[in-house]
Amino acid sequence: MKVDLRSDTFTKPSPEMRAFMLNAEVGDDVFGEDPTINELENKICKLFGTEAAMFTPTATMSNQIALKILTNPLDEIICDRTAHIYNYEVGGYAFHSGCSIRYLEGERGVFTADSVSKNINAEDVHKTITKLVSIENTSNRGGGKIFPLTEIENIKKVCDKNQLYLQLDGSRLFNALVETKENASVYGNLFDTITLCFSKGLGCAFGSVLTGKNIHLKKARRIRKVFGGGMRQAGIMAAGCIYALDNNIDRLRQDHQLAKYIEQQLMLCNFVSEILPVETNILIFKLHDNINDISFIEHLAQNDIHAFAIGDNWVRFVTHLDITADMAEHTRTVLAKMN
Ligand SMILES: *Cc1c(COP(=O)(O)O)cnc(C)c1O
Repeated sequence: MKVDLRSDTFTKPSPEMRAFMLNAEVGDDVFGEDPTINELENKICKLFGTEAAMFTPTATMSNQIALKILTNPLDEIICDRTAHIYNYEVGGYAFHSGCSIRYLEGERGVFTADSVSKNINAEDVHKTITKLVSIENTSNRGGGKIFPLTEIENIKKVCDKNQLYLQLDGSRLFNALVETKENASVYGNLFDTITLCFSKGLGCAFGSVLTGKNIHLKKARRIRKVFGGGMRQAGIMAAGCIYALDNNIDRLRQDHQLAKYIEQQLMLCNFVSEILPVETNILIFKLHDNINDISFIEHLAQNDIHAFAIGDNWVRFVTHLDITADMAEHTRTVLAKMN
């Protein structure tokens, strides 16, 4: 039994998902003729109440397309210091869009409308033009923290008042929605564009959708093409995403329950100094100074549990589709023995 808690990206397409993909009807999507991709895009529009949607291979590409269509070179993007678009997309905001980043010091990835207001550049020939605010929900480096809807609504007001666009990196948005039970259309209404990701807890091999207003998505198709993301019979992949939407969303709650179950054990462990309270499927905790994170990870690995040390003696566990209750039980047992 290999317990892979490194990331929800390690999930593998299930036999049922693969069988569903095998039977997908396909066509040339660059010509808009792939019925399965069209079905996926329509399904997302219906769910989010949005005008348009576009399939891309990765959430990174969806994010990068969103930044490109919502900004001009010499503009500035506001996001949290921990944001994926700032830390893990190879500086694409500068490379593709010629933008700078103003990062905010949020709390576990969550920042306030007030801090956005205070970081909008005044009209000044020395300065970049603040153009876009990007929110990540749930926050990956914030330990799966949910961005509260009321704060998003306040940020939207600041954006409207200052003519800023609002983009959502919703790579784990469904993890937030199953917890808050909010309607996806509320999000479709608040954001100019939303990035969704199917290769995390939803269990697909890859795939992402960018959804939003017609005017943005029309530009987005052109940018996807220049990024080399115009795909042909990719309905085989989109079928996996349709399968995931129909079968793998509600079950995200089980991942959250298992993360909380492991958290309860960690609370009893004397080698743990701090835990970021679990809200969804990510569990981040800090080891006491007298414990070495690398030896801790090695000890877990000897017991078939795999996790990442994320720096400064912090460790991350992520639960997902391929983590069973038995595996969570095994993890608790191993942790308890280390105490
Ligand atoms: C994983 C992730 C992405 C990128 O997803 P890919 O599909 O692997 O490119 C973007 N944003 C966040 C918050 C993520 O966790």
